[in-house]
Amino acid sequence: MNNLTYKDLDEAIDLIRRSNRIYIASHINPDGDNLGSSLALALALRKLGKEVLVLNPGSIPSDFVFLPGIDLIKDFEDDVDELDLFIVVDSGDIDRLGPNKDLLDRSKAIINIDHHITNTQFGNINLVDSKAAATGELIYQLLKRMDVKLDKDIATNIYTAISTDTGKFSYESVTSRTHRIAAELLDVGIDLKDINIKIYESYSLESTKLFIKALNTLKLYSDNRVALVKVSQRMLKETNASLDDTDGISSFIRGIGPVEVSCLLKEVEEGEIKVSLRSKNYVDVSKVCAKFNGGGHVRAAGCTIFEDLDTAEAMIIEEINRHLR
Ligand code: 5GP
Ligand code: MN
Repeated sequence: MNNLTYKDLDEAIDLIRRSNRIYIASHINPDGDNLGSSLALALALRKLGKEVLVLNPGSIPSDFVFLPGIDLIKDFEDDVDELDLFIVVDSGDIDRLGPNKDLLDRSKAIINIDHHITNTQFGNINLVDSKAAATGELIYQLLKRMDVKLDKDIATNIYTAISTDTGKFSYESVTSRTHRIAAELLDVGIDLKDINIKIYESYSLESTKLFIKALNTLKLYSDNRVALVKVSQRMLKETNASLDDTDGISSFIRGIGPVEVSCLLKEVEEGEIKVSLRSKNYVDVSKVCAKFNGGGHVRAAGCTIFEDLDTAEAMIIEEINRHLR
């Protein structure tokens, strides 16, 4: 799961060159990395004359609708019988594709491009590097190796992917390479101020109200080393917000001084709780989530628990406690 080898990259490039009709798919509950990576890749493949479609991964958070190429995101077209190639980005396993998973067998081949430590290597070719700070870094490497000239639209997408998956270039996954890539994207002429306002300073009033309500549920466990907040369906109704509006809450409460693990519980529906974990220093939250068939990264992971909110809370706290030193 280390750096991509030229051999793997070249095999992928050869397959891409031989393919014409290409679908790009990614995980449900889309975020900056999977959208930016999918769109950067799609725009590049279009430049090479490929027929490309980005499969709709689910409702797009409003912060990201500005991304260049967003119109390439479409629902599956039923008149397509066979695809040459499926490229899956930023998805640790095929269940993360939600309903789009069922379309994989319509393709002759799959390329899997990802940086999750829990990746199941489900592709015919796997460009998986768990050391990459974002899938956007891997897309950058692939496009460079393919000799695709980066333009402002492609660079804007790659920048968004990397910035959002690294907590604005602050996580330990960030390397000098991450900054070198970012420097090159700036040289291409991206509008840094505009991108940053769009992705970080454009929250809706509804999501702000939800944020306040969620913080009011804050509970601390295990000598304040674990912080937990809950978002119920009732809170969404009261604030007119949606589950997409919860982004950032878990990272925010991780910022409390003594907190090592933060946990956000989202009630998707009665009896279905989406868990979002973050850690600061040493707990591998992908292992905590693996217990509930989820996964992700060492410092950010997720899973679903099919119980009511209070039961899910007790179950996840018990598992987190097992991983605290
Ligand atoms: P978030 O908490 O932002 O939803 O997700 C954090 C990280 O964990 C992301 O990289 C995301 O792809 C991954 N993740 C979230 N939920 C799941 C899940 O149910 N299964 C797996 N395998 N990964 C998840
Ligand atoms: Mn990612």
